[in-house]
Amino acid sequence: MRLYNSLTRKKEKFKPIKKGEAGIYACGPTVYDFLQIGNWRTYVLGDLLVRNLKYLGYETKYVMNITDVGHLVSDGDEGEDKLEKGAKREGETAWDVAEKYTKDFKQGMHKLGLLKPKLVRATDHIKEQIELVKKLEKKGFAYKTSDGVYFDTTEFEKQGYKYGELSTLDEIKEGARVEVNKKKKDKRDFALWKFSPKSEKRDMEWESPWGKGFPGWHIECSAMSMKYLGDQFDLHVGGEDLRSTHHPNEIAQSEGATGKKPFVKYWVHGAFLLVDGGRMGKSLGNAYTLQDLDNKGFSPFDLKYFYLMGHYRKQLNFTWEALEGAKTALERLRKRIINIDSRLRGNDGGSDGGAPHQAVQGAWESKFRERMEDDLDMPGALAVVWEMVKDKNLSDGEKLGLIEKWDEVLGLGLSKVEMKLEIPEDVVKLVEKRSRLREEGKWNGADSIREEIEKLGYVVEDKGKETVVVRK
Ligand code: AMP
Ligand code: ZN
Repeated sequence: MRLYNSLTRKKEKFKPIKKGEAGIYACGPTVYDFLQIGNWRTYVLGDLLVRNLKYLGYETKYVMNITDVGHLVSDGDEGEDKLEKGAKREGETAWDVAEKYTKDFKQGMHKLGLLKPKLVRATDHIKEQIELVKKLEKKGFAYKTSDGVYFDTTEFEKQGYKYGELSTLDEIKEGARVEVNKKKKDKRDFALWKFSPKSEKRDMEWESPWGKGFPGWHIECSAMSMKYLGDQFDLHVGGEDLRSTHHPNEIAQSEGATGKKPFVKYWVHGAFLLVDGGRMGKSLGNAYTLQDLDNKGFSPFDLKYFYLMGHYRKQLNFTWEALEGAKTALERLRKRIINIDSRLRGNDGGSDGGAPHQAVQGAWESKFRERMEDDLDMPGALAVVWEMVKDKNLSDGEKLGLIEKWDEVLGLGLSKVEMKLEIPEDVVKLVEKRSRLREEGKWNGADSIREEIEKLGYVVEDKGKETVVVRK
């Protein structure tokens, strides 16, 4: 597989550190609010990457953190802690806020059918973070000020390391995104540990060798990724915003502590999701959640199909019309698959039964793989799916076989079982009732139930002995 590596700034062939294995770390959510569709685009990218690696036969180890402490509002070292801020907003403790939105995150992962990473919470790894800061201190990379312990970028460079290599922003060298803090030796230095301010009561704070307080935002990712994946590992994923300071800081902390370079071989960054051509944000009222989509009749899979229509390295523009387009396309695809499936089951003239077309099937498989292996070209892979289902040289069985296999990567719930699961309970009950009436020869009753089902937005089709239900 070839992947664009933000560190080397080119597409490279993926060669894991250990043959046949891939360790992946994804920066997870700060759990202070509901996740929005921009966040989800980034988590779907992590999922796609892991699915692709699995498909290609790699044994994967996928770890994701939950930031439940210490992420300051400005993304620098100043401002309020996002969790403590959420607690004030909701009149609860920071612990309750973290719990509530971690739950929302897990539910969202489930709704979107994402593979489960090993989820690790920052607050469960305070000890590891303190140990890491101690290591950095021993090597001369940390110094204490009146408000915290900071990473010393100047000393880091003096000892022969490069700081900010990954960053796209030249300004990182001048520390543009880092708030000016007069106590720091250099503008680029960043907090490893912050002391609890005397003026403010915090819900989350811990004792440390330097004083009571809480970890800086970046240290958790270094501590937890290395704990679970080793000092050096293969892949690190996150949104493009993290490339400017968070990830360069992770590199500095980890390489500084272990002396091993590179900390991570391949850095994969997903471009942002825009809404109506611009930035999305709470204050703009366009930071839509999965619930907002559900309220307008869109399923999480409609959103996922929409994501797949764009390449992960290009910004993608969300509009309700575009989502509608994705929904329609996904429904058309599902209908096709259901028809293929029912033809097969009903044996009513489906094109199965002839000699197998192994060569043709193999050619499709190569086409699909070629797209995935070219830096996760999912729009290209979707185009292959559509061409394949229309190919007259393939039998129905062969088509279904390919779809089921490819859906391991696409994760669109295209397997028959999953599609049936998406039909609401009340519709399923009506379909069963209708089948019973038909068996008893009560055709009028069966017809009126068909109308009821249609009113709920579904259509029943009788194919041979099978009854198939699809969304209208
Ligand atoms: P946060 O919870 O703010 O730390 O963000 C969690 C993840 O979502 C990070 O990897 C961000 O890069 C990503 N993210 C935030 N906004 C967007 C967006 N508009 N499009 C894509 N990813 C985003
Ligand atoms: Zn991180």
